[in-house]
Amino acid sequence: MDITVVGAGYVGLVSAACFADFGHSVTCVDTDSTKVENLKIGTIPIFEPGLDDLVTRNISADRLRFTTNLKAAVKGASVIFIAVGTPSRRGDGHADLSYVYQAARDIAGTVEGYTIIVLKSTVPVGTGDEVESIIRSARPDLQFSVVSNPEFLREGAAIGDFKRPDRIVIGTEEERARDVMSEVYRPLFLNQSPIFFTERRTSELIKYASNAFLAVKITFINEIADLCELADANVQDVARGMGLDNRIGQKFLHAGPGYGGSCFPKDTAALVKTAQDYGGALRIVETAAAVNDQRKRAMARKVIAACGGSVKGKTIGLLGLTFKPNTDDMRDAPSIAIVQALLDAGATVNVTDPIGMAQAQGVISGVTFYPDAYTCADNASALVLVTEWDAYRALDFPRLRELMHLPILVDLRNVYRAAEIERHGFIYNSVGHKPSRP
Ligand code: NAD
Repeated sequence: MDITVVGAGYVGLVSAACFADFGHSVTCVDTDSTKVENLKIGTIPIFEPGLDDLVTRNISADRLRFTTNLKAAVKGASVIFIAVGTPSRRGDGHADLSYVYQAARDIAGTVEGYTIIVLKSTVPVGTGDEVESIIRSARPDLQFSVVSNPEFLREGAAIGDFKRPDRIVIGTEEERARDVMSEVYRPLFLNQSPIFFTERRTSELIKYASNAFLAVKITFINEIADLCELADANVQDVARGMGLDNRIGQKFLHAGPGYGGSCFPKDTAALVKTAQDYGGALRIVETAAAVNDQRKRAMARKVIAACGGSVKGKTIGLLGLTFKPNTDDMRDAPSIAIVQALLDAGATVNVTDPIGMAQAQGVISGVTFYPDAYTCADNASALVLVTEWDAYRALDFPRLRELMHLPILVDLRNVYRAAEIERHGFIYNSVGHKPSRP
């Protein structure tokens, strides 16, 4: 099947490479010419485990190609996926749909014959209707269907998630589109991945409701963690004890510095706005978003408390900057707010990250970047573990102790246990356990 993917970002590129790997013939188009030129020679613009190999292999097999020329890219395609960004609109939190609508207009001016246009980008309920009317008014005689097929992959595990999803959601009321979409996903159907067909508007809402639910779940355990610190209980055991109940489940019950990344913050904000537009209210989601916003600076206050109440003139080292491990994505990473709050409190901040340094340099300033944990820890009065990269899971504490001005570790991901760190002479603070004080 001939497929075009519009947008070669985290979702578009992974989707294009995976569809090609299923055996489809895929053209991926992006307006960013530098990105496209790099992709043509197999240079991947993002860090995603396994993606290099997948892209290179499918380019060599002539199943995957890249271009900036949308007209050429959609020629002959039976299915066109729109996978462009839908960031928060500046100022009001609504999803900015300008890239989606631009892609729809570009497609409308170009396609021939019955075509399915699939919204893979995360878009508010009703966007499919709008895209349909954009195309209909540009091409009144065109035979086409607009389908919703939201993406649920996680950065850092994107290929596995795409090839073995918990579910594939497809929103269409049209039999013809349903048949073609079944064909697109046939390899997964054979793998027994559940394909859930529903109406287009419902499908659009499933994506936001899922992300909002996960954001609420994280925020819930984070607030329980705060209570554990006050009440001298252990949040990891609380989470485990809760999660053993199948109705609750173990996942997304890891207390930490608050959620970040390219999806949860913008998608919760957009869902709240959608509800308001319809005259409804999603108070739980609103509150979770507000609680999460405050949490990031609260993590800096935790560091300050661990340092005896002030970091003025002290050097603080941060380990991990990306919003989670195994990605280079810095969008809305908690590290950004934590760094700013520490700088505001008068600290000198050293930072490091195994993969995300180049991206971080674009969004974090006023700090010194170091190549690894040990250079970052040199002369520091505290070390803060912000992102739980594997590289920070087995730190050499005797070596750190020699390098650091004061042996204080603030572990915002609960990677370590107090006893194992304290035996190296460290003062250890984590999330959701009673803090030890200097
Ligand atoms: P991204 O910013 O990484 O990529 C978007 C790409 O689209 C960019 O390369 C940009 O140059 C390109 N683009 C913009 N307008 C274009 C146009 N008119 N024609 C061709 N290319 C164009 O974004 P992303 O992280 O891949 O997210 C894409 C969508 O998928 C968003 O709606 C997001 O919410 C959703 N999503 C993202 C994730 C994730 O983990 N990143 C997961 C699920 C869903």
